[in-house]
Amino acid sequence: MAIDFSLSPDLEDIRRRVRTFVEDVIKPAECRIEGDGQALPLQGNDRIKELIAMRKMAYKERLWLPHMPEEWGGMGLTHVQLAMVQAEAARSYYGPWALNCQAPDEGNMLTLLHWGTQEQKQQYLKPLCEGLSTSCFAMTEPEVAGSDPTLIRTSGYRDGEEWVLNGHKWFISNAHRAQFAILIARTEEDPDLPQAANTAFLIDLPMEGWTEVRQIETMHGSTGHSEILIEDLRLQETKMLGGRGQGHLLGQYRLGPARLAHCMRWIAQAETALDMMVERSLERFSHGSLLAEKQGIQWLIADSTMELYQSKLMVLHAAYKIDRNEDFKSEVSMAKHFVANTLNRIVDRSIQVHGALGYSTDTPLAHMYQHARWARLADGADEVHQMRIAQRTINTFTDYGSTARATGGLPI
Ligand SMILES: Cc1cc2nc3c(=O)[nH]c(=O)nc-3n(C[C@H](O)[C@H](O)[C@H](O)COP(=O)(O)OP(=O)(O)OC[C@H]3O[C@@H](n4cnc5c(N)ncnc54)[C@H](O)[C@@H]3O)c2cc1C
Repeated sequence: MAIDFSLSPDLEDIRRRVRTFVEDVIKPAECRIEGDGQALPLQGNDRIKELIAMRKMAYKERLWLPHMPEEWGGMGLTHVQLAMVQAEAARSYYGPWALNCQAPDEGNMLTLLHWGTQEQKQQYLKPLCEGLSTSCFAMTEPEVAGSDPTLIRTSGYRDGEEWVLNGHKWFISNAHRAQFAILIARTEEDPDLPQAANTAFLIDLPMEGWTEVRQIETMHGSTGHSEILIEDLRLQETKMLGGRGQGHLLGQYRLGPARLAHCMRWIAQAETALDMMVERSLERFSHGSLLAEKQGIQWLIADSTMELYQSKLMVLHAAYKIDRNEDFKSEVSMAKHFVANTLNRIVDRSIQVHGALGYSTDTPLAHMYQHARWARLADGADEVHQMRIAQRTINTFTDYGSTARATGGLPI
């Protein structure tokens, strides 16, 4: 058995190029877009031009679609290799967007690649890959717990050659801008399994019967998580993605790698917060010594370092299992839960070490803190992951008389 954490020269080169691109192109553009204390944020066409220029540069530098195969214009990376690129790109807020590997498009691309017909791939996947369209994924509903997709009420029935959909969705990220949605609706009234009631559909936007009620105001502002009303929305059979009753399966397939991709980006954010924590502690002097010399601060730094190290190992191992077509559900669940909580703790500690400055918007920490909070409840709330992890551990013990296989199936 070979355990090798080193990168090949080719991969090291990709990592270096992504890092240089983020430092030299994206971060300066981000300052211009968001404003930097001296200049005001860009608005309207100027903002759009700056965003598009970043993407064109990424495309030219062949740092485009790291998660997609080469035949779709991607970099053809494995999940382990992707972890490295995502973690570099997400050092900047706009990094994943510039490389066209941001949520929810990234998960939707992989879903279409796996489940789409040739026609659906041409119509929906191709423009997404080319950066000419953007998409959303519509599953969660206000009336029922999003944690349990068997409760979904948005429903579809056949009317001749067409499907007619009715329902209510919310927190649909990117819906405001999207050219199409992947929507999950209940189509089967009496399935053999509760998980086989839902079906996925592709919806061109705008579309009669799809109404955006509002963009929901969240902790990080009103930035594109929409509430949607679906009333007698009519679709041809060709708009079904995957088979009837396969909506749950498709959602699970989508969420595995997509959750891990979130973790890869969260690692970058957590590392940025830890870097800032250490830098500040080396500059700030109080009660006779630098903060870095105080044991209370060292504990914050040490805990953050250990947790970030664990996060990286968990993400790499889950990615390794995906690459080998091994069952990765438990490892992705554990990584998602652990990295989301690590991110929250490290950003919080970094704010603490920065004092009032950390609470201000003069550093990116406040913004990071607002974004970090959703990580613990979206894409599977903490408690739901814990429930599943515990179930698998108990089953493993019952089946094999030991929990060893539940802790990553590692050879120690
Ligand atoms: C910023 C953001 C973006 C989002 N983007 C999208 C999107 O693009 N598309 C989309 O479809 N959805 C999206 N969501 C919704 C997200 O997926 C749901 O919030 C999530 O699935 C949880 O569903 P819920 O909000 O209905 O919470 P509920 O299911 O009502 O759960 C509430 C809480 O109850 C507890 N809980 C639930 N079940 C259990 C259990 N079995 N055991 C113990 N405790 C439990 C947990 O603490 C959980 O946080 C987004 C949410 C946010 C915040």
